[in-house]
Amino acid sequence: MATPSTHPFNCSRCANHNVSEFAIYEPTDNWLIVYPKIRLIHAHLGIATWDDRSSTEEAAWIQATLEKIYTQHSPTTFLIFVDLTRSDDSEFPSRKALKIYAEIFKHTQTASMVLYGVSTAMQGIIQIVLHLSGAHKKVQVVKNIHQADTCFREWSKKNKTRAV
Ligand SMILES: [Zn+2]
Repeated sequence: MATPSTHPFNCSRCANHNVSEFAIYEPTDNWLIVYPKIRLIHAHLGIATWDDRSSTEEAAWIQATLEKIYTQHSPTTFLIFVDLTRSDDSEFPSRKALKIYAEIFKHTQTASMVLYGVSTAMQGIIQIVLHLSGAHKKVQVVKNIHQADTCFREWSKKNKTRAV
């Protein structure tokens, strides 16, 4: 598949970055980028998965991509934006995927996650993952990217951003 030439999502921070700087997962059109100096990761997720296998494979890709970033910048912790605005209500992650998401939530280098664009069905799924991971304090659900930016600014102030 040809590399897409434009970002399929709205984000003013990411709009300034070339397509080549993103890790892209084509099956569901996920775009992930790290801003190491400010300890921020943007995960702009795409379409919903369609069966257990695609769900597990997507989760495994997200985990492997984050693991690469975490290893490269160890032991730095990151705040992760998870943009779910492009997915619909059709998704229900596989059991394996739920386990993988719980591992991501509770990873020591995952300082905090801010999810936005969350559908009603997704809210329920997030509750399940929170239950599995026990990482309630790390995860916030907000309405839009502007509120996510506010969370990021507050977190940065508290955690004194340092360059890596
Ligand atoms: Zn972005």
